[in-house]
Amino acid sequence: MKYVELGKTGEKVPAIGFGTWKLGNEGIDAIKKSIELGANFIDTAEMYGNEAIVGRAIKGADAFIATKVSPHHLHYDDVIKACNTSMQLLGVKQIDLYQIHWPNPAIPIKETMKAMEKLVDEGKIRYIGVSNFSLNELKEAQSAMSKYDIVSNQVEYNIMVRGIENDLLPFCRKEHITVIAYSPLARGAVFKEKKVYKLLNGLAGKYGKSIAQIALNYLIADGGVVAIPKASDPKHVEENVGAADFTISKEDMMKIKHFL
Ligand code: NAP
Repeated sequence: MKYVELGKTGEKVPAIGFGTWKLGNEGIDAIKKSIELGANFIDTAEMYGNEAIVGRAIKGADAFIATKVSPHHLHYDDVIKACNTSMQLLGVKQIDLYQIHWPNPAIPIKETMKAMEKLVDEGKIRYIGVSNFSLNELKEAQSAMSKYDIVSNQVEYNIMVRGIENDLLPFCRKEHITVIAYSPLARGAVFKEKKVYKLLNGLAGKYGKSIAQIALNYLIADGGVVAIPKASDPKHVEENVGAADFTISKEDMMKIKHFL
């Protein structure tokens, strides 16, 4: 496994994690497998409605648990309440990474960030993250805090959706804010879209790896990124974990970069 420092915390997290959107009871074995193989960064959200299931899967295991507060819960009291509920459902005394799921322009960011800082002070969460924040929203959220850093921004990033490579990703790398790449397999489209499939299948053959492994390796190769594929099939989990342990040549990375 390859590791990434989470923000500037000194804490190392695996470059391949695990996403749980739309995962129900059938996904418990896959979550356990992921933790067992070292991809123990497990991402969920109050919005996913599966924190109790995730809680059962991580019970007694060495997991790094990331969850999210919903955008309609960003007033001060609502953040505190949502966090308490998530902790209860997950069955944990502390959430490792608490993320704002989506920005909500109707609620002052200062109010939300104050609640996030309070949660760190109380020991209910260890680190503060955001999700779906643009570069400007990220900067605003950071300046709204007085004590702590934003350690991560979770955004869509896969070989078919690469807008963040223009501004957000370089900024985050410079500022040591970890990018958590969601939908890293484009929700399965990397296996279906003709042009992408052709490119990835060719590289998969060349490196003796799978299409998923090439697609994920591209995202994490230059550091500062944690990819969180969702897989309900434990075989897929095994494959995804193996995405971190090989190197794609510079020339082939450029081929992927410029194929769109
Ligand atoms: P994804 O991870 O890009 O793709 C998941 C799909 O790929 C599933 O159908 C899965 O199948 C399949 N798959 C996984 N590994 C595979 C492999 N090795 N070979 C073949 N197929 C494979 O999609 P996602 O669920 O949208 O994104 C991942 C996570 O990102 C979510 O679960 C969630 O935690 C997070 N997310 C966050 C946000 C946000 O707003 N912050 C939004 C979207 C997603 P099986 O299930 O059958 O294994």
